[in-house]
Amino acid sequence: MFGSDAAIDLKSRLEAASNIVLTGHRSPDGDAVGSCLALWNHLKEYGITSKVVLPDEFPGFLNWMDGQNEIVLHSNDPNSAESLLKEADVMFVLDYNAPSRVGEMQNALECSNAFKVMIDHHQQPVDFVDLMFSDEKSCSTSEMVFRLIERWGEADKLSSNSAACLYCGIMTDSGSFRFPSVTPKTHRIAAALCETGIDHSSIHAKVYDNNREGQLKLVGYAITEKLKVFPQYKAAIISLSAEELSRFGYVKGDTEGLVNQALSVEGVNFAAFAHESDDRVKISFRSVGKFSVRDFSANHFGGGGHHNAAGGASTNTLDEVVQKIISLLPEYASDLDYIAP
Ligand code: 5GP
Ligand code: MN
Repeated sequence: MFGSDAAIDLKSRLEAASNIVLTGHRSPDGDAVGSCLALWNHLKEYGITSKVVLPDEFPGFLNWMDGQNEIVLHSNDPNSAESLLKEADVMFVLDYNAPSRVGEMQNALECSNAFKVMIDHHQQPVDFVDLMFSDEKSCSTSEMVFRLIERWGEADKLSSNSAACLYCGIMTDSGSFRFPSVTPKTHRIAAALCETGIDHSSIHAKVYDNNREGQLKLVGYAITEKLKVFPQYKAAIISLSAEELSRFGYVKGDTEGLVNQALSVEGVNFAAFAHESDDRVKISFRSVGKFSVRDFSANHFGGGGHHNAAGGASTNTLDEVVQKIISLLPEYASDLDYIAP
């Protein structure tokens, strides 16, 4: 994919560009922020200035990455964010594959005349860009950014600042290197990142051992009081209302990974976590085996993502969303029963 001349031509285009903007998806995660800031740091090393523009706030456990202070959030400063998108001559679309994934920033993104470059690993990309690097087999966008830098012949000179961001992106999207999407190449990339001198153990601790007390109690409450298991369908659901979240002083990122706890129940092949967020209900889906949560989310909740990890949203009430998921289970009973060998 990065073997083509297009990857090399892109570097020349970046060298000639005046305004480069790097964008990620709404509710940015470790891979979105990691891939944006890795490229931002890397280009900076080569004397190329760029700006990271994100739709809204990222979780506090990512606030150690180099350059995070300079990120422009559309939710905080829509005018600056929109004028950066408007004036951009090159725009990167990192870790998402449809304009709808940037929420309120969508219009400005679509109106921009910038040369748009997508680097992404989600299924079924929407072709709204000028240059598309889409690899649904890749465990993360950060892994793909490394491969692009490698193609530019610059991997040996990668800075530890950039490497730390890439490591975080790969680590978070691969469930700490445990998902089936992890390949020997992923580990070789991780090794190359470690060789830049990053402290991989401290990156893991900053992301995963940084819980607020209220957050841990919220997770405890969610599992003790709110986990519903449907053994006949090998499914589990957790839901949290805005009131329940605020009881524990919820801040963004607190429920990251909660859906995986539901999936970890013995025999469960499909897990959903729904919570009230702003004016909508946000839902995370995870599965093991044949059942495609991407399709489930796309068909019933206007969402998308990957075969085994997807998300969606609804403007119905939380209860309605939970009831809808429950009522759909019988329809998928045979898929939910199946585990790939
Ligand atoms: P999470 O549950 O961690 O928020 O998301 C799981 C995966 O699904 C991620 O790869 C994420 O980018 C994708 N995803 C989450 N929410 C949505 C959504 O509303 N629409 C689409 N298309 N993808 C989503
Ligand atoms: Mn990703």
